[in-house]
Amino acid sequence: MTTIPLTTLPRSVPLLDVNRDNGPLRDEMLAAAARVIDTGRFLHGPEVKEFEVAVAAVCGVRHAIGCASGSDALLLALLALDIGPGDEVVVPSFTFFATASAVTRVGARPVFADIEPATFNLAPAALERAMTARTKAVIPVHLFGQCAATEEIVDIARPRGIHIIEDAAQAIGAKRNGRAAGSVGTIGCLSFYPSKNLGGCGDGGMLTTNDDRLAERLRLFAAHGMSPRYYHRVIGINSRLDTLQAALLLVKHQALASWTAQRQANATRYHALFRQTGLDGAVGLPQAMPGNDHVWNQFTIRVAHGRRDALREHLTRRNIGSEIYYPLPLHLQDCFRELRDRTAALPETERAAAEVMSLPIFPGLRADEQQLVVAAIADFFAAQQSRAA
Ligand SMILES: *Cc1c(COP(=O)(O)O)cnc(C)c1O
Repeated sequence: MTTIPLTTLPRSVPLLDVNRDNGPLRDEMLAAAARVIDTGRFLHGPEVKEFEVAVAAVCGVRHAIGCASGSDALLLALLALDIGPGDEVVVPSFTFFATASAVTRVGARPVFADIEPATFNLAPAALERAMTARTKAVIPVHLFGQCAATEEIVDIARPRGIHIIEDAAQAIGAKRNGRAAGSVGTIGCLSFYPSKNLGGCGDGGMLTTNDDRLAERLRLFAAHGMSPRYYHRVIGINSRLDTLQAALLLVKHQALASWTAQRQANATRYHALFRQTGLDGAVGLPQAMPGNDHVWNQFTIRVAHGRRDALREHLTRRNIGSEIYYPLPLHLQDCFRELRDRTAALPETERAAAEVMSLPIFPGLRADEQQLVVAAIADFFAAQQSRAA
């Protein structure tokens, strides 16, 4: 008689499977799309306003303004705050490209600052060191779904009249001491890129603010600076969240709280599995800081001693998805080479880029899939140990 294992582990695990999350909403999404197609109001349809109101509620802000992407949101924030040539903006180097490229696009200079190793987020002390008389804004990024040390950043920046633009692209719904990502700074920037916690069926972005005047300026800059029609007060851009995208996101946003809870449960399960396997020494596990409601856009571990890439190859051979966010810090990118002479040493940024690896954490991920991920990592370290012995 052959023995059949009680639990058979799956044979592959994707890094992300949007179809698994969209599946239960498919009929509602199709119906929403059909309604937009039938009205023919592809831009400025009522769903755009409705979705803006919904996101304003999630973020606990007075205003939410749709735009074409998270990258555009960052650009629009800088434009609306009149940041341009001669100005400096402090940004982390360990982030997605758009955080810094928006600064260069408006003619200002990004000044890269180091991160806190425990959270991968901008270190307040590094912000303090990076500021000069030309500093007009700082862009803390709530990386991987955890809020940056916003209170400390506010305490440093506000007294000097420095604006805080929160890059909350990865952190919709995250909170720090009860305050939502995107509600603490002068302006918050969100992205609905499909892999974000609230992902659309294409590109989309949003700006959040509690400032009535700024909200109006953001809308102005997103609409060619036009008010009234064909009279242009400032040189804006064209950046809209279209009606189809808003209608689909409006359906998906109903699931956001449940998806966030599932991501949090997945993070808790990973912590337990790594502990059970005795791997919590070999692998650095991501932690939520006290006061932080982490929304786990990514579950990012650290693998030290130059073993990260070998582990990643091992997982790829076993059909387990992983990704490195981000392999090359921005201050070392070719396109920013002219900034290098004025960039401080960023040791934590460079160490993170060498050590990090993100594992599957999407809402529909199953427990047996997480077991397979951790078992495969355990095999890797066991093989390393037997080789060393
Ligand atoms: C995704 C992302 C952006 C850009 O958003 P898009 O909608 O893709 O333009 C900006 N900053 C961070 C930190 C991001 O993760």
